[in-house]
Amino acid sequence: MKLSRSQKIMRLFTSEERFKMMKEESMIWGFTCLNCTERTSFWEMGGIRYKASGTPKMRFSCPKCKHKAIQLIDKLEL
Ligand SMILES: [Zn+2]
Repeated sequence: MKLSRSQKIMRLFTSEERFKMMKEESMIWGFTCLNCTERTSFWEMGGIRYKASGTPKMRFSCPKCKHKAIQLIDKLEL
């Protein structure tokens, strides 16, 4: 998977090990599309979410159905 610009910048300033942890955590965070119920991880959206809490709302369009909405960013329970 290609890295986004912010992920590349983060990669430059963190160790490989920490970057891997950031990636893993960013993949747990994400949103479920209200329109087609497709789950998209924060990482896939080009973002990084690490050592974060809360469930922010952000405007994203679903990569699958292109539905644009305010999405609730939540964490999958593993
Ligand atoms: Zn969708």
